[in-house]
Amino acid sequence: MLVDSHCHLDFPDFAEDLDAIVARAETAGIGRIVTISTRVKRLAALLAIAERFPNVYCSVGTHPHQADEEDGIPASELIELTKHPKVVALGEAGLDYFYQHGSREAQERGFRAHIAAARATGLPLVIHTREADEDCSRILEDEIGKGPFKAVLHCYTGGRDLAMKAISLGLSISFTGILTFKKSESLRLLAAELPPDRIMVETDSPYLAPGKFRGKRNEPSYVVEVAKVLAETRGVSLEEISRQTSENFFRLFSKVPAPKAVA
Ligand SMILES: [Zn+2]
Ligand SMILES: [Zn+2]
Repeated sequence: MLVDSHCHLDFPDFAEDLDAIVARAETAGIGRIVTISTRVKRLAALLAIAERFPNVYCSVGTHPHQADEEDGIPASELIELTKHPKVVALGEAGLDYFYQHGSREAQERGFRAHIAAARATGLPLVIHTREADEDCSRILEDEIGKGPFKAVLHCYTGGRDLAMKAISLGLSISFTGILTFKKSESLRLLAAELPPDRIMVETDSPYLAPGKFRGKRNEPSYVVEVAKVLAETRGVSLEEISRQTSENFFRLFSKVPAPKAVA
C-alpha cells in the first residue's frame, strides 16, 4: 500500500472525473489520500470531497500564495476547524519566495499561526517552502523553541542544510515527481541520505506529473512512480519503500485511521 500524502482534489482540473480518479488510485493500491487546503475560506468545498470518499482526508490552511488574502486568520480559528473528523492536518502554509504572490511579512505571520495551531492540536503541519531556505530554517528553529510540533516539508526542493535542520528538529521530508526528473540529481542524493523514518511520498497533483507521465495532468495513482524512484535511489525494493513511507505517514498523520498491517 502507498499513500498520497498531498494532492489538490478540489482544483478545477479534477472537477469532471473525480470519481474515476479516486477509483483509479484505489485500484493502484493507494490506501489513503490527503487533499490539501490552500484557502481556509474554501474548506467547505474540500470537506465535501473528503466526506464523499472514505479514504480521502483533508487539511485546513492558507497557502503562502494566498497569505495576503487570508492575512490575520488566528490560530484559534484554525484549531476550531480541525475538530471535523476528516480534517487531519494544518496547511499547506509556509514561504514561497520564488513566486512571492503573498508578501513576505504575511507569509511569515501565516506560517507562524499555522505552527501555533499544529502545536496546540498535535496535528501535523504541511509546510510549503520554496527558495526560502534561510527564513524557513530561522522560523522553524525559533518556533520549536516555544514548544514541539509535528510537520513535514512537502514537495521538497530546498538545499541540504534546510533538510538536515528539519530532520534535527524532528520533522519529515516529502518528495513529489520532481524527484523523478533528470535534472534532480542533487535532490536524489539528498533523498538517499535521509533517515528511513522521516521520508514520505506525494503527488501534489494536478501538478508535477512524475516520470513517464511528465507534462500530463498528475493524479494520486501516479504516486507509485515517485515511490519507485525513491526506492531505486535508496537501494531498496518498492515494497520496502511503500511500507516505510506508509508507516511514516500514519505515525505523522495520526488522526488518519491506519489499516491493521501496513503492507
Ligand atoms: Zn506546496
Ligand atoms: Zn500543494
